[in-house]
Amino acid sequence: AKKAGRGEQLIFNDAMNAATKDGLVIDGALRGAIEANEFYLVYQAITNSHTGKLTKVEALLRWNSSLLGPVSPDRFIPVAEDSGMIIPLGTWVLDQACRQMAHWKQSVLDDVTISINVSAWQLAAPDFVALVSQALIRNGLSPHQLELELTERVLIEDAANVQAVLAQLRALGVGISLDDFGTGYSSLSYLTQFHLNTLKIDRAFVMDIEHSERSNNLVHAIIAMGHSLGLQLVAEGVETAGQAAILEKMGCHYLQGYHISRPISPDELLRFADDRAGR
Ligand code: C2E
Ligand code: CA
Ligand code: CA
Ligand code: CA
Repeated sequence: AKKAGRGEQLIFNDAMNAATKDGLVIDGALRGAIEANEFYLVYQAITNSHTGKLTKVEALLRWNSSLLGPVSPDRFIPVAEDSGMIIPLGTWVLDQACRQMAHWKQSVLDDVTISINVSAWQLAAPDFVALVSQALIRNGLSPHQLELELTERVLIEDAANVQAVLAQLRALGVGISLDDFGTGYSSLSYLTQFHLNTLKIDRAFVMDIEHSERSNNLVHAIIAMGHSLGLQLVAEGVETAGQAAILEKMGCHYLQGYHISRPISPDELLRFADDRAGR
């Protein structure tokens, strides 16, 4: 490791103190936030790259804190993970997303799949599979209507246990999606070792696909590999028509990103789906 000079050390400490303080403030404000109804979900469309039809929606958590105002999930999720608060919060997300799906029954959104993000802590809890199946039953959903998004970090944390839990979820019929693919500890052995059915190609690669040969080659290789393993592929962070066209041509099945839609409210999503159905 590089030896820091005195000045550098001070800056580092200041930054660390600021981060710790920020974390403590958020941690305090998180307490009671579920009961106070400060959370809600927004939904981002995932469409078939070929037909443009809405196929899945990802539920994304939002927090409007009475103390701090709106706080982005990139700031409060890590804090909730450190404190263990992510367990009740994750349960709330699962429940809320399933309730919303039940609400969409017999609407134009009837046959979409809902994806929710799941943290390592949640998956490690002994009652996770029971929790998922209860949420499905309570809301009259079939397991194939639900997909869980995990990051590579989740997979390595307690590999043997995670593998068993994922096998149970897959046996139930729930989909398992590997989120942010390519950014983490990306061992290719994960792709066969765990019971996955979807790979989500991270925004970092999609972003440069039009201008960087390296990113373009990499995405192409991920898609080819996904195909040969029988996995569904979703490209994240699609922001331009050019990116969408390249991805479709490469055989990426699904697209997600601002070019398709921002994360939106349930009502806005209904209108979006209506629009797409009429095409
Ligand atoms: P993620 O799962 O990778 O979610 C995608 C993030 O990218 C979302 O940010 C979304 O708004 C953003 N995004 C989507 N399309 C585009 C695009 O075209 N361009 C750009 N620049 N960004 C785009 P968001 O909603 O702020 O969520 C950030 C992260 O917070 C998520 O990343 C996920 O890791 C975490 N998160 C969100 N909701 C939950 C949740 O319910 N549970 C858990 N455990 N984590 C969550
Ligand atoms: Ca995700
Ligand atoms: Ca992602
Ligand atoms: Ca991410």
